[in-house]
Amino acid sequence: MAELYLDGAWVSARGGARREIRCPADGTLVAEVDEAGAEDTEAAIAAAYGAFRDGPWTDTSARERGDLLLRLADLLERDAEDLARMESLDTGKRLVESRYDITDVVAVFRHYGRVAAEDAGRMVDTGNPDVVSRIVHEPVGVCALVTPWNYPLLQVSWKVAPCLAAGNTFVLKPSELTPHTAIHLMRLLAEAGLPAGVGNLVLGAGATAGAPLSTDPRVDLVSFTGGLETGRRLMAAAAGTVKRVALELGGKNPNIVFADADLEVALDFALTAVFLHSGQVCSAGARLIVQDEIHDEFVDRLVARAGTIRLGGPFDDKAETGPLTSSAHRDKVEAYVARGIAEGAVLRTGGARPEDPALADGFYYLPTILDGCTSDMSVTQDESFGPVLTVETFTDEADAVRIANDSIYGLAGAVWTQDAGKGQRVAGRLRMGTVWINDYHPYVPQAEWGGYKQSGFGRELGEAGLAEYRETKHVWHNIRPTEQRWFGG
Ligand code: NAD
Repeated sequence: MAELYLDGAWVSARGGARREIRCPADGTLVAEVDEAGAEDTEAAIAAAYGAFRDGPWTDTSARERGDLLLRLADLLERDAEDLARMESLDTGKRLVESRYDITDVVAVFRHYGRVAAEDAGRMVDTGNPDVVSRIVHEPVGVCALVTPWNYPLLQVSWKVAPCLAAGNTFVLKPSELTPHTAIHLMRLLAEAGLPAGVGNLVLGAGATAGAPLSTDPRVDLVSFTGGLETGRRLMAAAAGTVKRVALELGGKNPNIVFADADLEVALDFALTAVFLHSGQVCSAGARLIVQDEIHDEFVDRLVARAGTIRLGGPFDDKAETGPLTSSAHRDKVEAYVARGIAEGAVLRTGGARPEDPALADGFYYLPTILDGCTSDMSVTQDESFGPVLTVETFTDEADAVRIANDSIYGLAGAVWTQDAGKGQRVAGRLRMGTVWINDYHPYVPQAEWGGYKQSGFGRELGEAGLAEYRETKHVWHNIRPTEQRWFGG
């Protein structure tokens, strides 16, 4: 098998390297795939560049591109169960969660299939009746799409769907840990009729296979979802050729609970906010900020419920959440918790690997709650990307807002209160790209997603998600040209 998709053909990595993909739930070998080097990525960029410059793709209408995305959505739906299994094996997440993810993926492609041809630009009134002036959208060109391992195909869909809707060509580099759904997506894109070279896939490590994507002058835009450090590196590398850059980075997202909230519901959502997918969610509500008068009872009950969360592999019907993605990632989460305890946080539950021998081969870590935290601790400021909740208290509305905004990040947050005015006031003052009031986690393809501050810039989804992949051109047409005689007689 060859797993790199370059210029409409499946090819092996030129250097012959292969990578083992292992299921994080039990370490079993899922498959071996090609491991690209920089020369494979350069070939992928050349294919995307050629297809943008010469191919039939740039002459397709927005409506045709939309139709292609709708056909793709149907094919994804047809193969949904296979895709969900692939996703679960690569990530270790429960099959039921992977099924939700694939449903969301289909919805993203349908959304951009529907809106691709909706906005054909606009006319501008120049004040001169002899001029027809219009603003048109054009594709940016060759797009490098770089994605992480936590929601593999979902993160890919947020980029590929608007990228194609806008008429670009692309090189996709998914996380080296979770390649299988991206491979299948390329098969389905070919089946849906995507011309050769328009979509290209390279698999491999960021430092080798990924690096040319932010330096090659033929790439016009880098859209990246991943960690803050990698984002900083890509942005600096892209500056050399003044590429467009869109960064969807991490978060340490506050979940604010006021004493007047419906506490039963707030408690239930506080668990889902942080422990869903074992905390490997960029918008995880990993920073609980609870009003001081309800702190003790709320946290006691949270600790009791967190202690009953059942861990298990993708196909264990009783499991409520799964493993961390790798042994190295679990090591990082362990070090993060140890740091918090050293700084004075109180470990209320978890803080260890599970003792169940059935889980010994996977990278599991118990749902963990660190109480007694303050904004000056590393654990309240840094993202753990694991099942770790930090708890802080606040006195009043202004205090809650101050604590929640005391972060380099600004991806998402939530506020729980039955006072609608208070909910709106707090939502308005939080410096975050998404704020939920009395809810946590939902998103829809019609609504923008992205970060303030060091959670990144640029938006995915919604209208702005499409605008990322469009250039704007002003066409000025003088329909009655006459001499001006500015110079000379
Ligand atoms: P990561 O930064 O390690 O890797 C992300 C991707 O970048 C991978 O495909 C990796 O191979 C690639 N990469 C690494 N170095 C590169 C380089 N020099 N050039 C090109 N590509 C390179 O992140 P991760 O560990 O895969 O994902 C976890 C992070 O992603 C977390 O910080 C999380 O918050 C973030 N995330 C953010 C969002 C969001 O919407 N804001 C969504 C999901 C995940």
